[in-house]
Amino acid sequence: MPASIRIIPLGDIDSDVLDEVGAALTRAFGAAVTIGESQPTPKYAFSPYVHQFSAPIIVHKLATTHDASGAKTLGVIAFDLFAPQTNYVFGEAQVGGEVAVISLYRLLELDRHVYFERAAKEAIHEIGHTFGLGHCDDDVCVMHFSHTIEDTDIKTSEFCTTCRVILDRVIALGEAT
Ligand SMILES: [Zn+2]
Ligand SMILES: [Zn+2]
Repeated sequence: MPASIRIIPLGDIDSDVLDEVGAALTRAFGAAVTIGESQPTPKYAFSPYVHQFSAPIIVHKLATTHDASGAKTLGVIAFDLFAPQTNYVFGEAQVGGEVAVISLYRLLELDRHVYFERAAKEAIHEIGHTFGLGHCDDDVCVMHFSHTIEDTDIKTSEFCTTCRVILDRVIALGEAT
C-alpha cells in the first residue's frame, strides 16, 4: 500500500498553502495526499500563560482521534506553537508514529513563494519524523532541525542521501505490508 497522508486544517487555513503542502508531500513521500475536513481551532491546547498553543497536546489529541487506517495525519494551524522547554516550535511529530502538526505562524512572508516553500519544508520535516527519521546534521537536509526561520530558509525541501536511503527503506517496508 503506498503511503497516504491526510492534512487536517485546524481552524481557518488558506487553501493555497494547503494545496502547496499537499503537492510537496506527494513529491517527497510518493504518498496519496488528501485534505480533510477542517477542525475548529484547538482551544483545548491554548496556554493563557504564554499565549501559544501546545504542540504536544495537539499531537496527542489528533492521535486519539486518528483512525487505524495506517495513513499519516498532519494538522496545520495558523497560530504559534510551543513545547516544554522551548519558546516556540515550528512543528512536532510522533517519531515513527502517525501524527504531526505544523504551525504557519512564523513562516508567513509577503513573498508567497517563500512562504509556501517554508511550509513545504516544515511539513516534509514533520512527516519525515513519522517515518522514523531523526534530526540530521546536514544543514541543507530537510531533516535538519530549525531553531530559527533562517535555518528553515537554509535547508532545502530535499532529504540528504543518508536520510533518503532510510526513508525509502521504511516506505518500501510499509508498501510490502
Ligand atoms: Zn524535527
Ligand atoms: Zn539528512
